[in-house]
Amino acid sequence: MDQMLSTKGVGKRQMTRRRSKTGATPGRCDPELAHVWLPYAQMKTVSPPLPVARTQGVRIFLADGRELIDGIASWWTACHGYNHPRIRQAVETQLASMPHVMFGGLVHEQALRLAERLARLLPGGLERVFFSDSGSVAVEVAMKMATQYWINRGVRGKKQFVAFHGAYHGDTLGAMSVSDLDSGMHARFAGTLPAQHIVDLPENPTAASALDKLLKDRSGTIAAIIVEPLVQGAGGMKFHDASALRHLRALADKHDALLIFDEVFTGFGRTGTMFASEQTQIAPDIIALSKALTGGTLPLAATVATAKLFDAFWSDDPEKALMHGPTYMANALGCAAANASLDLFEREPRLQQVADIAAMLAKGLNPCRGLTGVKGVRVKGAVGVVELDRIDNLDAMRARFIELGVFVRPIGNVIYLTPAFTISTDELETLMRAVVKVVQEQKH
Ligand code: PLP
Repeated sequence: MDQMLSTKGVGKRQMTRRRSKTGATPGRCDPELAHVWLPYAQMKTVSPPLPVARTQGVRIFLADGRELIDGIASWWTACHGYNHPRIRQAVETQLASMPHVMFGGLVHEQALRLAERLARLLPGGLERVFFSDSGSVAVEVAMKMATQYWINRGVRGKKQFVAFHGAYHGDTLGAMSVSDLDSGMHARFAGTLPAQHIVDLPENPTAASALDKLLKDRSGTIAAIIVEPLVQGAGGMKFHDASALRHLRALADKHDALLIFDEVFTGFGRTGTMFASEQTQIAPDIIALSKALTGGTLPLAATVATAKLFDAFWSDDPEKALMHGPTYMANALGCAAANASLDLFEREPRLQQVADIAAMLAKGLNPCRGLTGVKGVRVKGAVGVVELDRIDNLDAMRARFIELGVFVRPIGNVIYLTPAFTISTDELETLMRAVVKVVQEQKH
């Protein structure tokens, strides 16, 4: 995901890449890396990743003894900080009785409780929870639900999706097809994926009427609109207003399309409310959740549908069932971690912490405004963004952040901070000072 514009990839041990005596690059010759295939990385030239010994709070402790303040909370998952005792305890307790049991023909207390809690927390009658194990799969399931919804209702041909420029919905084939292929890393797959409609968000009258026309003309083929509400994450940390989302709801209703919110990034407090949907006064038909669901502890995802959507699957006809079932669906350890994470949201002032972080980010990143090469500075909840005209050498910039004692991984032309909500004022200030310093050092 941080690869969407460039690389979600790995860190770097040194400023310059190590080479062996034979001149081979680290991916090939470094015995530690001989058998792994790293994410979003050209293995021949990739900078060696930083070996981590342990994590605690917002700190990453490296094997070589260095310590980094984490600015991105492991791709936005570790919202309570790493290794939170309550989540650890819940996982350990669950481990003692049952790490996992298949969800076909069997259920367990942790999953039932989590589903009930999510249904209670989510807005707009989203009440039927389908568990899976990653954000991409949660999106795939949402797309499958939307397509089959129309089939089950006897409407044939509605199988395409409308998605938006700047979107990122994951790395599996369906999720890639609704991501922005033109600007993102999936461009090389254009033409091999299912054809979808990737258009501008309806943020102005021209885009709104173009979308209205598209949905009208293609009403017979479009199953759903899919969007990351309020913040498009890995596609460039771009923000849009709730009004654009309300517009989507109205257009979806007008032209018989479903509306899917992908809250894999925005869910669980990141934008200032538990779910970004809450700031829109509308609700989607389906929502995809993952990432911070388990507080960054274990892989788990949920695709949640409204009763209206679920009713189309409720039948005596086996053909109308949703035929999906990941092996590790509703993993008991993951569900225990998620329940503990929700406990923390209930017991600790997380949303207040997000509001405080938002205020500090606005102030602390402000010095970047007006610096040479800075295109914009923006903050939404616990997301702080400095957009540059360009970043010439991402690897060098990432290494510079490491030198400054922080883990910050710019994507494309964007430096962003998405820290744990439990970060202290001092730690956040250290992160922001590092960002300002690195931006000042840029030569344009
Ligand atoms: N959807 C959004 C909005 C995301 O930000 C991401 C990952 O960054 C995904 C889906 C894919 O999630 P995963 O990497 O868990 O498959």
